[in-house]
Amino acid sequence: AELDTLDLLVLGVILLGTIAYFTKGSLWGVVKDPYASSFAANAGQKTGRTRNFIEKMDETNKNCIVFYGSQTGTAEDYASRLAKEGKSRYGLNTMVADLEDYDFENLDEFPSDKIVMFVLATYGEGEPTDNAVEFYEHIRSDDVSFSNGSSLENLKYVAFGLGNNTYEHYNSVVRRVDESLTKLGATRIGVAGEGDDGAGTMEEDFLAWKDPMWSALAESMGLEEREAIYEPTFSIVDRETLTADSEEVYLGEPNKGYLQGTPKGPFNAQNPYTAEVAESRELFKSKDRSCLHMEIDVSGSNLTYQTGDHIAVWPSNAGFQVDLFLKTLGLTEKRNHVISIKALEPTAKVPFPTPTTYDAIARYHMEICAPVSRQMISTLAPFSPTEKIKAEMTRLGSDKDYFHEKTGHSFYNIAQFLTVLGEGATWDKIPFSAFIEGLNKLQPRYYSISSSSLVQPKKVAITAVVETQVLPSQEAPFRGVATHYLAALADKFNKGAKSDAYDLTYQIAGPRSRHTGTHLPVHIRHSNFKLPSDPSRPIIMIGPGTGVAPFRAFVQERAKQARDGVEVGKTLLFFGSRNAKEDYLYESEWAEYKEALGDAFELVTAFSRDTAKKVYVQHRLKEKSEEVNALLQKKALFYVCGDAARMAREVNTTLAQIIAENRKITPAKAEEVVKSMRAANQYQEDVW
Ligand code: FAD
Repeated sequence: AELDTLDLLVLGVILLGTIAYFTKGSLWGVVKDPYASSFAANAGQKTGRTRNFIEKMDETNKNCIVFYGSQTGTAEDYASRLAKEGKSRYGLNTMVADLEDYDFENLDEFPSDKIVMFVLATYGEGEPTDNAVEFYEHIRSDDVSFSNGSSLENLKYVAFGLGNNTYEHYNSVVRRVDESLTKLGATRIGVAGEGDDGAGTMEEDFLAWKDPMWSALAESMGLEEREAIYEPTFSIVDRETLTADSEEVYLGEPNKGYLQGTPKGPFNAQNPYTAEVAESRELFKSKDRSCLHMEIDVSGSNLTYQTGDHIAVWPSNAGFQVDLFLKTLGLTEKRNHVISIKALEPTAKVPFPTPTTYDAIARYHMEICAPVSRQMISTLAPFSPTEKIKAEMTRLGSDKDYFHEKTGHSFYNIAQFLTVLGEGATWDKIPFSAFIEGLNKLQPRYYSISSSSLVQPKKVAITAVVETQVLPSQEAPFRGVATHYLAALADKFNKGAKSDAYDLTYQIAGPRSRHTGTHLPVHIRHSNFKLPSDPSRPIIMIGPGTGVAPFRAFVQERAKQARDGVEVGKTLLFFGSRNAKEDYLYESEWAEYKEALGDAFELVTAFSRDTAKKVYVQHRLKEKSEEVNALLQKKALFYVCGDAARMAREVNTTLAQIIAENRKITPAKAEEVVKSMRAANQYQEDVW
């Protein structure tokens, strides 16, 4: 049948509507900010870009690509620093790339006069980060193949891993990738570096690894080292026509949905949900220490959790730290000027949305309170206010021992350091780009959820000790970024006089004062730390201090099951703290759970300062040696949560002793038993 005019008209309208829908208006010339950062431009639109990294390097004339496998952004920051240094010291044409953005079928076609760098974090129980999974599985697969076969003999690479030695599978991702690449015939330049977050030496491990690596690389590629010339990666464009009130200016909103006041899910590590605080109370009964129990309402979101998961809290920096940072750089007057950040380098990514203000960047996006790094000092040296200060900065930046001697016990953050060293002078010669490149992105902090999803699926509880550290050389104590932000929220929730218990002047109502109640941005991270699916199976839990958080959830869940008539197995909890009077967490709740669970629940406490000889949870565990062994033989699950550095190791050792004694086997054999318990998930850890 023929189409008449009306049909055509209708079809035309539908077609136009469809185009408009699928192009989201971009063909219609809908507002496009000419200064838009690549962050905003790329956000959420990954289609249409090449996934062939060799082609991308050719197009942009690069000879060095730094891939990162990053979960929270640290590995990404290290990758950017390597790229930067390769460029400024050796004249390499570098680019940074997300492993997820490219395919690796053509890795064998990578030219031998170029270099690939891998900066890979190990996550959880030896797993690759989410963005590295595909690459990792490809390279590790038994029948791995590439465009022209399975040899990588042309490929030269460099590798650095970020890990935590308190975990069983320390740096296993970089180790395994390195092993696979070598097996496939590729050549590694320098050693495969390993940074250890557990020992707190990540930064120094990185610095110690990279210098010999650069020398080896220079030799292999015939590069000449030159005096490092600082070249900014980003330019700062003043946006005089805009003010901080303009509606397109980001004042700390993480993305466009938030800017427009209509945040949409899915909520995840890129897109937090601004949740309301539903409850907040103090758990310690001591004047000088604080532990918060906070309940966060996620009912307005699609967020779900399971008992044992983690919640991530997105903090902002304290106002007085933001003030100091801006003042040190001479930016106080300009703090609310609107700027756009433009990548000067097509492959660089602006790490936060713009247009924005200096204030918003310092408050919401940069880790300005972390201890200053030696590399940062060396980068900033040429921009010192005087020659004398420059000489001192240069020495501090290049001499590890001198640096530690000067800063060892003070842990200055960047602004404190520049203030002390500059004797109060303003550091206004530093290009702002140096901070965007050199400071870490403000990281969300994780907390083990202390509520049961069976009992309260939409209200997530956390148990957080407010971190305060008195430093001998500084007047004011160091105050943890996220926990003091939480303390300020708690104070507002409980209608404290100043809405900020420690007077840190947080912007507690968030960007544009949009948070009318007591709100904080969060997302949920799923974990493998889980109760057995069969509630009648016995469990043994070791959770001193805030390590008790997930176990409060476990016991809360089992108490509910018992009340519902479900048969619940032995539930044995070891809790420890300093003393029963001040920091006995959830003391009154345990009695309620006991009522529901009866003999199935047993709480064993260790208060280290209540007795002449210090008692810790591992001592109590040892005292219960026989019972613990018997429960394990009845397939009990064994859980440890809390301090990774000492407690978790000692518990591991104690358990091996218990097994050796009771089963009359050698210590070595008992160690094997514990190892196999871990492999079989009978022994689970949630430690930090
Ligand atoms: P930050 O500002 O991050 O500082 C952390 C520490 O670094 C300080 O205590 C201090 O020792 C040092 N530091 C940093 N900067 C400086 C400086 N300039 N000068 C001196 N020292 C400095 N915590 C809980 O309380 N409860 C939990 O249930 C819990 N669960 C967790 C689960 C997981 C999986 C992980 C990874 C961590 C967990 N944590 C938990 C720890 C939590 O994530 C935070 O690390 C902790 O609350 C401190 O955060 P913060 O921002 O207050 O401190």
